Amino acid sequence: MTKYVYDFAEGSRELKDLLGGKGGNLAEMANLGLPVPPGFTVTTDACRAFLRSGTEPYGLRDEIAVHLERLERRAGRRLGDAADPLLVSVRSGAKFSMPGMMETVLNVGLTDDSVAGLSAQAGGDERFAWDCYRRLIEMFGRTVCDIPGEAFEPGPLDADPRECVRRYQEIFREHTGRDFPQDPHEQLSEAIRAVFRSWNAERAVLYRRQEHIPGDLGTAVNVVAMVFGNLGADSGTGVAFTRDPATGERGVYGDYLTNAQGEDVVAGIRNTMPLQELERRDKAGYDELMSIMAKLEEHYKDLCDIEFTIERGKLWMLQTRVGKRTAAAAFVIAAQLVDEGVIDLDEALSRVTGAQLAQLMFPAFDLSGGPRRIAAGIAASPGAAVGAVAFDARRAAALAAAGTPVILVRRETNPDDLPGMIAAQGILTSRGGKTSHAAVVARGMGKTCVCGAEEIDVDITGAQLRAGGITVSEGDVVSIDGTSGAVYLGAVPVQPSPVVRYFEGSVTPDAGGPLIRAVDRILTHADKRRRLAVRTNADTAADAARARRFGAQGIGLCRTEHMFLGERRALVERLILARTGEQRDAALAELLPLQRADFTELFREMAGLPVTVRLIDPPLHEFLPPLEDLAVRVARAEERGADPGHDRELLDAVHRMHEENPMLGLRGVRLGLVIPGLFAMQVRAIAEAAAAVPGARAEIMVPLVGAVQELEAVRQEAQRLLDELGVEARIGTMIEVPRAALTAGEIARAADFFSFGTNDLTQMGWGFSRDDVEGAFFGRYLELGIFGVSPFESIDRDGVGRLIRIAVAEGRAARPDLHIGVCGEHGGDPASIRFFHEAGLDYVSCSPFRVPVARLEAGRSAVTAAGSDTR
Ligand code: PEP
Ligand code: MG
Repeated sequence: MTKYVYDFAEGSRELKDLLGGKGGNLAEMANLGLPVPPGFTVTTDACRAFLRSGTEPYGLRDEIAVHLERLERRAGRRLGDAADPLLVSVRSGAKFSMPGMMETVLNVGLTDDSVAGLSAQAGGDERFAWDCYRRLIEMFGRTVCDIPGEAFEPGPLDADPRECVRRYQEIFREHTGRDFPQDPHEQLSEAIRAVFRSWNAERAVLYRRQEHIPGDLGTAVNVVAMVFGNLGADSGTGVAFTRDPATGERGVYGDYLTNAQGEDVVAGIRNTMPLQELERRDKAGYDELMSIMAKLEEHYKDLCDIEFTIERGKLWMLQTRVGKRTAAAAFVIAAQLVDEGVIDLDEALSRVTGAQLAQLMFPAFDLSGGPRRIAAGIAASPGAAVGAVAFDARRAAALAAAGTPVILVRRETNPDDLPGMIAAQGILTSRGGKTSHAAVVARGMGKTCVCGAEEIDVDITGAQLRAGGITVSEGDVVSIDGTSGAVYLGAVPVQPSPVVRYFEGSVTPDAGGPLIRAVDRILTHADKRRRLAVRTNADTAADAARARRFGAQGIGLCRTEHMFLGERRALVERLILARTGEQRDAALAELLPLQRADFTELFREMAGLPVTVRLIDPPLHEFLPPLEDLAVRVARAEERGADPGHDRELLDAVHRMHEENPMLGLRGVRLGLVIPGLFAMQVRAIAEAAAAVPGARAEIMVPLVGAVQELEAVRQEAQRLLDELGVEARIGTMIEVPRAALTAGEIARAADFFSFGTNDLTQMGWGFSRDDVEGAFFGRYLELGIFGVSPFESIDRDGVGRLIRIAVAEGRAARPDLHIGVCGEHGGDPASIRFFHEAGLDYVSCSPFRVPVARLEAGRSAVTAAGSDTR
């Protein structure tokens, strides 16, 4: 029979699929001998079974009863005992942390009868006991019975808590039609079921979608004996990190609140004191905490974050995990741990991600213009964000949807603010520390966040804030610096990130500080370890030069159609309008020197590195003016009795060339085979340019091939030209039509290389129009979980990926030395790069800015096991 409940002594962090992160780590701490209150974990299996059938799986109730009995024995108290009651907390805990997204019920077990017993435990503190009871009714009411939070307005703070409980019980009755349950076991079962259900709460679903967390994992539920941080001045609660999660700096960082419950710290409702203050107040407690934190770091070999409570001088560990950190801290800590001899460079490489490196390449503020600083808060999540101020999540989402960049300003955030946080460029709060909801969620999303800016007076209802003698109203622009914590009035200009400056060569690793040194060291190691080469997609010398500085080892895709824009359009027009062979040849002859110059520049810039030039791809009518414009111009001319002349000719051409589905029409190789001389002109230009630049390594790539015969026809003519000019160049093809992938064995006979055009392969593999579907219905598809991320962003391993695997296998079987790469957008996407590594490709090619990300991810793919995730 499936085991649904694990005591902490039975669990470990290895079981986090089953016990969730929190449960696994509580077990780990208990097994390390750390002071963890007794408890047990109900598995994610049980949650999934519950969510499938709507009822508790068979056997769960009995198992819980057995484990509860053990918990009672260890705690020395019984649930529901009127004289000396055991109270428990019931908390969610999924495999991946989802801060604040699911439910918690504290103080489960309190009833009208046992409240006096709790008061006795607290040394006769009746107020405390009734306050606990009030909190239970509220949390239970909201979580289990869906009573709206506002229903439980606290009333005057000095109100008699006994009276408050009476009122809350009435509210409970009004909303549910029943009395607040007086059977503690019933309270417990209902609370567990509510936590299960909260897996599918709207905000949890939204968070998972944002963070790409699969929707079918379910949450575990932790049932733990309550300990109280709100029993007076010798009690308290806190959150701490073993290193600074914002910068990675060594040392202990944390927030502490005396006489408070854990929730109060995380919610950022009261401003906390730094952990060092605890040392002054409770030296023994502080020292014990420090030694536990050192032990945890040693055990996890990484930055840990913890939640703890001190109950009347006794320290309890309530949670630990390998802590979330900023992208900068991830690099700095990984390099530090190598220096400290804790991990090796392979492990350091596996601990940073391409997504983090991409974040570090974001710009920062240029402060040389002396912007007006109106406040400073805590630098909670780095970056430079500029936007119009919005004071609530809905407004923020609406402004963002209308294209206005937004800064969401709140006193503190809570999970209901999530849609606004997702929509905003940055988040600013006036309360709460580095561990507040706003800070944790923003860091997780890689969003800029400044929190706890106490000088700011936030007036939510009046939709304005006051700071530094200034009033800022909704829609006014502010700039927030998540790296320094500064808040500026107006839009401050932004400048490139120090990491980009390092790539550009204007900062050396030695002068760059710990972050640049860490990036340099880890990326150098990635380069040593990776099997995939990294090339770039570039059509201009400037892009090529930048990509080389970023570490590109060649050009994997030069889209030549981009070279026909601007004033050269007129030449393409002449080509299209040509009525005779002579006219066409004349237009091509004019294009030849221009193309030769384009390629010469690229070959020069790439100095002996391979340059893959793709012959022209898009439909030619894209070079003509839009049909509507022309039609209007011609009609106006005719109305005036004038001769529309050239416009008429153009309009006829547009009509002639009109296609219902241009993406599936006359483009790529089809165009080359239909317009005589077009490809030949390009091949000649490539060959002549290559001949003129010593060491140039040209590769000629044919787009949109679906049949080997197409490629053979182009290849024959191209080879003849190359031979005539005495130039050597490899001739290969894009694999971007599903038929090409499925007949790759044949196509390889005529190709020296393959390059997967995953944009078109995705378009044609799924039958999704590249130009339309993302706006039209992908939102709904993501909501329905048909895919977790757009297949245009991250490769669809099962479908499009299978086409790639077939093409690699059959292409290599036919031609073992076939060189294979990818040049679609997926070439710069971290999760896709791992797939390309696993599929045995030789290189990826991506836009210049993604080259460092691709180098890092290619290295990570080589040192971490297949199937590891890249989040
Ligand atoms: C592709 O289809 O993936 C590709 C690289 O070509 P383009 O995006 O130019 O169609
Ligand atoms: Mg394509």
